[in-house]
Amino acid sequence: MRAIAALGPVHVWGPARGTSLYRLAGGFAEVTDFAGGAFSLAGVRQARAIGAQTPRRVVVFPRSFSSAVRAAVVGARERIGIDDEARGLLLTRRVALPWAARSRHLAEEFARIAEAAGAVRPDDAPRLSLDAAHRRRAAALLAARGASLEARPLVAVCPGAAFGPAKRWAAERFADVAARARGAGADVALLGADADRDATAAVARALSRADAPACGAAALDLTGATDLPLLAALLALARVALVNDSGPMHLAAAVGTPVVALFGSTSPDWTAPLGAGHTVIRYPVPCSPCFRRDCPIGLLCFEGIDADRVWEEVARRIDGGRAA
Ligand code: SF4
Repeated sequence: MRAIAALGPVHVWGPARGTSLYRLAGGFAEVTDFAGGAFSLAGVRQARAIGAQTPRRVVVFPRSFSSAVRAAVVGARERIGIDDEARGLLLTRRVALPWAARSRHLAEEFARIAEAAGAVRPDDAPRLSLDAAHRRRAAALLAARGASLEARPLVAVCPGAAFGPAKRWAAERFADVAARARGAGADVALLGADADRDATAAVARALSRADAPACGAAALDLTGATDLPLLAALLALARVALVNDSGPMHLAAAVGTPVVALFGSTSPDWTAPLGAGHTVIRYPVPCSPCFRRDCPIGLLCFEGIDADRVWEEVARRIDGGRAA
């Protein structure tokens, strides 16, 4: 998106769960949330209103049919996107991908689309810079909940994943690693949106049952207490983020925090965290990746990832940060 923005003013138009990132990043002429579904009256009216601003081209990143329909209703002369069977007729420039679906990183897919629009592919991983006010807000929230950034490293734990249970490592194992982090003198922040409450609550319960060492380190459940800028700033203040393959994983990577990422039904070939310094942990089973939301055979891919292995990676980053 930044590469495209270098060509001229960009109007970002998408679902609210994604547009907040572009507002935070800044640098885009306009950012608008979808007013309704692609086939709804509100959605069609909005597309026409955007079309009335006479955009030169619409660049369609998602592969869905509905996103191509939106582009067609906007009516820009150029409509660029991936050539998936059912929607080729709605696009004026069809981008072909010379590799099997999900076999290369999604960022590569997006770069192909951007290049078709005339943009120059960036060399580096995407980074999100946060202003000092966001960091101050995050630090104040942590202090109010008993964490001390001056005295102890912060470990961010994000046990949710919106796609489904087949992307979520077991709560007891998250809690096991979180308890060890507290035992090693780190504050632990449980992070997630309202939709992640079941996952974070299960970790919080398991964590309260775990033998809490008398170390003074805090365990903070901040589920639902963060908007996107605050979540990004909390992740930026952490020494390491322990995550599933999820939005917070990419957000942590984008703000420069090392990530320990656990992959179950999905594939790091497609959605690994971008940038250096991260560790992806997965357990190879013949059925993986299956890209299912639910597992029919007992989540063997996550069963094989034990807490010892994960703790090793988390501990290394806690200690590495101390040494630095
Ligand atoms: S089917 Fe296999 S890869 Fe898919 S979630 Fe179950 S164990 Fe994991």
